[in-house]
Amino acid sequence: MKQKVCPRCGEPVPEGASICMVCGQSLSKRYMMQREVAVVGVLAVVAIVLAYLLFPIVFAPTTVTSTGNVLFEISLSDGSAYVEYEGTVDGRDVANLQIAVLAEGGSTSQLFSFASPEPGTVLGPVETGTLRKPVGVYYVAVYGDGTKMSDTIII
Ligand SMILES: [Zn+2]
Repeated sequence: MKQKVCPRCGEPVPEGASICMVCGQSLSKRYMMQREVAVVGVLAVVAIVLAYLLFPIVFAPTTVTSTGNVLFEISLSDGSAYVEYEGTVDGRDVANLQIAVLAEGGSTSQLFSFASPEPGTVLGPVETGTLRKPVGVYYVAVYGDGTKMSDTIII
């Protein structure tokens, strides 16, 4: 017959004992059940936090800030993306800005064009309802002097 052991310290405990003689752990059924419920509760919270960290799109909106010369803050919510233009790192004005949302599987939204956006302007919503999960924003910025730059921001 299998010897009963203490769930906390692992030492063998006599049959019918209500408390572990080594570490003092209560061995009553009721206490054990409360303990299980507490463990399940903690695991549920951990799972939700992990899901939030690993799959932020599920818990929209997600906000991503770009790191290139053209600064954006991208918020994703169900079916659409809002791209807030935040100006440029070097202070140059953007004469024209085009953005498209890239989605999982290689599909792309249409290219949206904005003339002379001011910092703080929200571009969008760019509808992503027919796309799969958005994975990035592609943009083309044309500066006042005619130079062009394009980049892809991975979400
Ligand atoms: Zn014990």
